[in-house]
Amino acid sequence: MIDQTTQPGHGNVFGNTRIALKNGLILTHPGASTVQKHKFTLFDNHLLSVVNSEPDQGAEYDMVVDCSGCLIMPGFVNCHNHTPMSLLRGLCDDLPLDQWLNNYIFPAEAKFVSPDFVYTGAMLSMAEMLLSGTTTVADGYFFMENVARAAIDIGMRTIAAQGVLDVVTPDASEGKHWEKRVNEFLENFPSTPITQPALFCHSPYLCSERTYVKTQRIASDNNMFLFSHVSETALEVQNCLSQNGLRPFEWLTRIGILSANFIAVHAVHVDDHERELIRRHNAGIVHCPRSNMKLSSGLGHIKKLHDMGIRVSLGTDGPSSNNNLDMLEEARVAALASKVVGVGSDAMGAQTSLFLATQGGAEVLGMEKVTGSLEVGKHADVIVIDLDSPHLNPVYDPDSTLVYSARGSDVRDVFVHGKQVVRDRKITTVDLDAIMKKANGLSCEISRNLGVGFWGEK
Ligand SMILES: [Zn+2]
Repeated sequence: MIDQTTQPGHGNVFGNTRIALKNGLILTHPGASTVQKHKFTLFDNHLLSVVNSEPDQGAEYDMVVDCSGCLIMPGFVNCHNHTPMSLLRGLCDDLPLDQWLNNYIFPAEAKFVSPDFVYTGAMLSMAEMLLSGTTTVADGYFFMENVARAAIDIGMRTIAAQGVLDVVTPDASEGKHWEKRVNEFLENFPSTPITQPALFCHSPYLCSERTYVKTQRIASDNNMFLFSHVSETALEVQNCLSQNGLRPFEWLTRIGILSANFIAVHAVHVDDHERELIRRHNAGIVHCPRSNMKLSSGLGHIKKLHDMGIRVSLGTDGPSSNNNLDMLEEARVAALASKVVGVGSDAMGAQTSLFLATQGGAEVLGMEKVTGSLEVGKHADVIVIDLDSPHLNPVYDPDSTLVYSARGSDVRDVFVHGKQVVRDRKITTVDLDAIMKKANGLSCEISRNLGVGFWGEK
């Protein structure tokens, strides 16, 4: 329960209050430290100014949150998403990736994706993520300045990466006009302390050498990350081998793309030589085990990459290839899946999985000094998990409880950049009912047009 709320601080995404947390337990460095009894933590505006110390006697705060019976920890970092695709969630599921994309998703996107679709879908996804404890997301799609606007309105730390493909897209009517779209995106991007732009080359099978090289140049010149799906399926590897005589990471290395600002999503089918190339060029990796399982893509040996010192993180992938955005569930499945591809020390335990979902993600996104752990001077991206539930008792090992037993719905309070965005399991910044109504209205239109069922509230 929040015992005192004098100035909730709403109306300002960037936090303008002194918020104190007291009591409960605290996990400051998931995967690297143990849980401690919590005394007192303070956010001064958007920064953590005290972490688990004694309070100043007589000091006054705008809000004091009692965390008795709860665990305080850093918010989750979801390194891969396509947030607007929440409006396509559950549409034509249970197909392999190539059929799902080419026969259903790409045609539906061509018809329906607009700036309004992108903003509404992003809002729906961000509400879901905040309510389940994710405070940072790296997103990739079309009309991405609208994802950044949604992030500012709801209050979520976001890297919004503009999609680049060599085919016609909803925001680039001629395939070769992606450069114009990227310029528009950069000109209109609302940069704030919680939003930053990036680029996203879809994949080696939808982007040419010229496109990768030009995109990487633009990304480097503007100090941005370049994301790309790489080695998601065995078919992609086979096609790359027959077209270029090289496996995908070898080809990307040859054309000069692999570097510290390059973040490869999936990396399911990777051999030892490719792992060494990723390590040597210091590229980041995003592991999306639930998406890989659902689309029959296979399972990457992520523990091997992590043990080599490669920066590895977790991502949910888009809501239509997962189909939820709960990072606790992603961490659980990552730990379980690693035991399918490895045994003993070759498999990932709860601690490592929790690290990838927080600090590991922050390191991949270049935010290791901003988020991912609770330290004085870092930005206040903090979540409070309610432990008062049958499935969370008893607690012998907090890491194990969090990864194998906790759910996103156990998250009670969420703070991003020092601002409370979830209070007592409710979004504080926007009208969630209005967002869901709008989302269902758009989805109803899509279902009518495609001739598929619709069972949501219109
Ligand atoms: Zn994806």
